[in-house]
Amino acid sequence: MKLLLAEDDPQIANAVLRALSRAGVQADWVTRGDDADDALKAAGFDLAVLDIGLPGRDGIEVLRRLRERGSDLPVLLLTARDDVRDRVLGLDAGADDYLVKPFDMVELEARIRALLRRGKPVAAASRVVRFGRLSLHADEAGVRLDDQMLELSPREAGVLSVLLRRAGRVISKSAVLQELAAADTSAMDLSDATVEVIVHRLRRKLESTGAEVHTVRGFGYLLRQRDG
Ligand code: CA
Repeated sequence: MKLLLAEDDPQIANAVLRALSRAGVQADWVTRGDDADDALKAAGFDLAVLDIGLPGRDGIEVLRRLRERGSDLPVLLLTARDDVRDRVLGLDAGADDYLVKPFDMVELEARIRALLRRGKPVAAASRVVRFGRLSLHADEAGVRLDDQMLELSPREAGVLSVLLRRAGRVISKSAVLQELAAADTSAMDLSDATVEVIVHRLRRKLESTGAEVHTVRGFGYLLRQRDG
């Protein structure tokens, strides 16, 4: 059992490392986000604890890059502020849990144990994502309604795929754009306004499917089941 700790405050890092050592957990410590990124590429970790405010690359960016490489490593984010935007961004980027500083070492140990117990989910890329009657198959470009392919433009299919993978969770417009661009570099020039237009069209096409794209004011979108 090996953990990566990315934390630039030596006082906090030392307290965490002492607590981990008491719990019998082996840990590597880095102080920079780019070093964390390199360490995670080398694999061999069972869990990562990432501070959000790091020099080099922030913790959310490190996490995003990890998930883009297809890793399902459990990640706990640390943040200095109880900022709901940080939390949404972090969860959007694929964090498994979240701790706001200052935190108690007992609390940290409990969260780490819980994450390790949860075990590893099936690799995201190899599975079929289902949401109600909609499904997304890893080897197909489109989205199915029951057994039929939905009639969608490539952009609509792209946005709906992103929403489906995050179904039930809020995703910001910028995160939608980032995921689109990660899958297709021609999407890099798209703007928030384009996403809004695509979502508007998707809403009509989803009317009879039981799913709906809900707008969460100030944050982004949530794919959810239509009421009733
Ligand atoms: Ca920091």
